[in-house]
Amino acid sequence: MTLIRGKTCPQCKKGDRIIEMQDKEKVLYYNMQGAPQYARMFKCGNCGHMFKPE
Ligand SMILES: [Zn+2]
Repeated sequence: MTLIRGKTCPQCKKGDRIIEMQDKEKVLYYNMQGAPQYARMFKCGNCGHMFKPE
């Protein structure tokens, strides 16, 4: 997991604990090894709210 800077949680308006995650419901493509590459989404470490990039 990666800590993201410069993003703000739309729910609690804090931006210091935003973590990047994978949106497992949304496969963007499969790489050359056949592994699925997922879309990005974010989770707020303060309130637990999950949101997608705009
Ligand atoms: Zn939040």
